[in-house]
Amino acid sequence: MAADLHSHSTCSDGTESPRHVVRAAAAAGLDVIALTDHDTAQGWAEARAAADEVGVRLLPGIEVSTTRAGASFHLLAYHVDPDMPWLAAELERARSSRVSRARRMVERIARDYAITWPQVQRLRPRGATVGRPHIADALVAIGAFRNRDEVFADVLATGSRYHVGHYALDVASAVRAVSEAGGVSVLAHGLAARQGRRLDEELLEELVDAGLDGLEVMHRDHGENDRQTLLRWARRHDLIVTGGSDYHGAGKRNRLGENVTADEELARVDAGRG
Ligand code: AMP
Ligand code: FE
Ligand code: FE
Ligand code: ZN
Repeated sequence: MAADLHSHSTCSDGTESPRHVVRAAAAAGLDVIALTDHDTAQGWAEARAAADEVGVRLLPGIEVSTTRAGASFHLLAYHVDPDMPWLAAELERARSSRVSRARRMVERIARDYAITWPQVQRLRPRGATVGRPHIADALVAIGAFRNRDEVFADVLATGSRYHVGHYALDVASAVRAVSEAGGVSVLAHGLAARQGRRLDEELLEELVDAGLDGLEVMHRDHGENDRQTLLRWARRHDLIVTGGSDYHGAGKRNRLGENVTADEELARVDAGRG
């Protein structure tokens, strides 16, 4: 079985609807696709209906924005109840903080580039969790850059003078929230360098104590050494090992199915649901 456990739709910063992502997954020969939009479960219903139509299995997920010491960490939550009050409130708080943060970033960028907040709003699909990629789209639309990648290498880089952070739950608290909401938590791209701070053994042990279930190992942003390190950590702590494409449609180079999860690891994700 081919299972891709990480993808995004127009409910966050992907460029294709949940239905389209699921159909594309089937066309790519996948048997299982997890839709893991940032801080929202909004796309699940549409994705599930599409999955039933095309005969692939939808694994419902959310990529939860979290933080530790000013750095950003992404936590994949599978089988989670998005209406569990604590988690639902935190997701709502992160989404609304993302809106004020995006407005502030646009204000800063607008001093040097001719973009406006209403323009970004028009480019963002209705109800989508807003992120830097939507600001990138505005800068591409005015011809200042050719694509999202180029904007992220410049104006939208995490260390850039235009960058503003947003509220997010502490990463260990997020692990606990996901667990309380009956979900399975997998730290996404924990050794990807571009996200600022990377996972280290001290933080890993704290997250394991908080109830972390797995590590996303097979991901485009992990080199061979990163994968070996993560595999060693996963073995030491008996964690689930996952892989996923982090597909964003036309918004990123990542292709559906370019990284996948082994059958026995997917079985552990399913067994871990609370
Ligand atoms: P934010 O969550 O608003 O801080 O923005 C980070 C998001 O931007 C991540 O979830 C990525 O999916 C996306 N991103 C990061 N780098 C790039 C890139 N080079 N091209 C397109 N999207 C990117
Ligand atoms: Fe994203
Ligand atoms: Fe991520
Ligand atoms: Zn992602």
